[in-house]
Amino acid sequence: MPILIQDLNFSYQLHTPFERVALRDVNLEIPSGALVAFVGHTGSGKSTLVQHMNGLLKPTSGKIQVDDIIIEPKKKQDLKPLRKRVGLVFQYPEYQLFEETVLKDVMFGPRNFGHSEEEAKALAEEALRTVELDERFWSRSPFDLSGGQMRRVAIAGVLASRPDVLIVDEPTAGLDPDGRQKMLRLFARLHAESGMTLLLITHDMDQVLEYTERVVVMADGRVAFDGTPLELFAQETLVEQFRLDLPHVLSLTWALADRLGRERPLLRTEAEAADWIIALKEGRP
Ligand code: ADP
Repeated sequence: MPILIQDLNFSYQLHTPFERVALRDVNLEIPSGALVAFVGHTGSGKSTLVQHMNGLLKPTSGKIQVDDIIIEPKKKQDLKPLRKRVGLVFQYPEYQLFEETVLKDVMFGPRNFGHSEEEAKALAEEALRTVELDERFWSRSPFDLSGGQMRRVAIAGVLASRPDVLIVDEPTAGLDPDGRQKMLRLFARLHAESGMTLLLITHDMDQVLEYTERVVVMADGRVAFDGTPLELFAQETLVEQFRLDLPHVLSLTWALADRLGRERPLLRTEAEAADWIIALKEGRP
């Protein structure tokens, strides 16, 4: 499902003394099935932008088009069809769990979108399998689970409505390194297997480099960069300007390359970095 954003501007508390411009002239085209990372400093407008994509916020001016649904300022429309197709997982989504059991919690979305009890149960079970939560937890209270498991339940709750677009805001925040890896692999697999469009808000440049093909940098409410991760990281002035970290794979291999007077390699994973270092050691070109 393609997403088209045209000349989007948004201000919080418009026409009040507290008015705050959060998005300025944003134009973006996201083709169906894309995997895009959104990065940028706190307050740069990432969350505000993605909330426009499922109708939680409406533009002050400009428009958003998701497939055939057009969202414009002040237009009166039923946003349920949009919310069913664009699933949004907020930061720390586990804080929004509330039902008595895991299964009931995950069924809430499909029930809300009009599925029968039976259909909702089938969808919820499928989603719980997708996030790899063992069946023995399904009848437990979500509050008896670990933090990482709770987050999986919350993500299953969004997946259960089978969205075409999945937006995740800092999905690995607060997880340990192992939990972060597992969570990212889950999203990469979901994206590869289902062809769903995946928009990932993250501060983790390692994730951006390894998993995404396209990165949008937001700065002061504007799209400040839109290209591939390697294009971004190769431009030192941009990395400095946006105060981004260099991914570890690049900071290490580029430091080595600089020391040895070699060209900086364009690598994306630790495995590629290891191969490059071994080749260096063995004196291969
Ligand atoms: P990010 O997700 O990149 O951290 P946000 O979209 O949350 O950025 O914020 C963009 C701007 O909008 C910031 O200046 C922030 O202070 C402001 N903002 C965010 N939410 C609100 C709100 N509910 N009311 C007023 N201003 C807000």
